[in-house]
Amino acid sequence: MDFAPTSEQQKLIAEASSFARAELVGSHPGDGGLSHYATRWKACASQRLTGLVLPVEFGGRGLGLLDSLLMFEAMAAAGADPGFVFSLGVHQLAAGAPLAHIGTAEQMAELLSAMAEGRLCGGFAISEAEAGSDSYALKATAQPTGDGPDDGFVLNGEKTWITNAPVADLILVCARSEDLPGAFAISCFIVERGMAGFSVIEGPKKLGLDGAPWGTVRLENVPVPANRLLGGRGAGAGVFREAMRWERCGLFAIATGAMARSLDSCLRHVRSRRQFGKPLIENPAVSRALALMRTRLDAARLLLYKAAWLLDKGRPDDVAISLAKAYVSEAAIANALDAQQLFGAAGMLADSPAVAFLNDMLPFRTLSGPNELHYQVAARLMQPTGH
Ligand SMILES: Cc1cc2nc3c(=O)[nH]c(=O)nc-3n(C[C@H](O)[C@H](O)[C@H](O)COP(=O)(O)OP(=O)(O)OC[C@H]3O[C@@H](n4cnc5c(N)ncnc54)[C@H](O)[C@@H]3O)c2cc1C
Repeated sequence: MDFAPTSEQQKLIAEASSFARAELVGSHPGDGGLSHYATRWKACASQRLTGLVLPVEFGGRGLGLLDSLLMFEAMAAAGADPGFVFSLGVHQLAAGAPLAHIGTAEQMAELLSAMAEGRLCGGFAISEAEAGSDSYALKATAQPTGDGPDDGFVLNGEKTWITNAPVADLILVCARSEDLPGAFAISCFIVERGMAGFSVIEGPKKLGLDGAPWGTVRLENVPVPANRLLGGRGAGAGVFREAMRWERCGLFAIATGAMARSLDSCLRHVRSRRQFGKPLIENPAVSRALALMRTRLDAARLLLYKAAWLLDKGRPDDVAISLAKAYVSEAAIANALDAQQLFGAAGMLADSPAVAFLNDMLPFRTLSGPNELHYQVAARLMQPTGH
């Protein structure tokens, strides 16, 4: 067991951190709209950050999940807009990784290089207005146009809360293609901007992660050729699971990065701010709050790193992934509330870092499936852990 990052990982962390400081820190998330987004995206593409987990043969960096996670974490810790990093992560973890692991040779040859080089941006769409936590209750349909292997599908339906929808060139869309119960009915399709009947309505402004564009995807008789079926008919749940395994570890490193950044600023504050003739940190209640914040950060990192490490070793553990996802998001919110309290009135200002941190952490409890569901699933899958 070795808890220290390797020298290679230290280089990746340093690279991500200095890149983020130079290119991704600045005005508040969402400022400047999509043109600001495009500038950041281009900078990431030229630094080869749009294909961290994508195979080297297709122009990606070929990094594992743990190495990529460390880079996302470093960007957030350096002060990058968490919403933008979230969008960058969704592109490669929820869309790129499943394509690279489940796609056919033809699909990979056609799409992966462009994704890795940032010429195509990706997203993943399963949620619908009436199918949120209960993903497999989705109603979007994929009607086969015939019985042969070369026959395509016609997609109809509406997907909600889809990260990257307004900027994505391709979206992996889950729809009901089979007359079978639950997960077995679902297939996943590579739907591309420009296909007839495909449209996007930009989503409303979010409280947090505002730098990640999102929207509703409308599918009105969209003709999807057979070679855009990902993973075979009825295999959509498998694609979804693959996407979520990568996303639930990788994206949640944005939360640990933001926790580290906030903790540093709290430490500086309680050491310099004096009340009752002494620094705040000399009050036992304040030092205890800081110690608990650090404990939560360390625990969150350990859970996340281990879940990612297991996946990299070819032993993905859904209990570890769900518990990491749930714990990280709750720990981040607990730290954000403590940070606000430690800054007093200054922590209540609408444009204060403390408020931005809390707002950016709130969605993590819900996205990638609400924590309640993760606890339920993890408890169901748990095996005895005694040695
Ligand atoms: C920032 C953000 C980005 C997102 N990006 C995407 C995306 O790119 N693609 C995509 O497909 N979706 C995306 N989503 C949607 C996300 O996956 C759903 O919000 C999530 O699955 C929950 O669904 P819901 O919002 O409909 O909540 P509901 O299903 O209505 O649940 C509401 C609440 O009920 C409780 N609850 C639900 N089920 C249970 C249960 N079994 N036990 C106990 N309590 C329960 C939980 O507290 C939950 O938060 C995104 C969401 C957010 C916030």
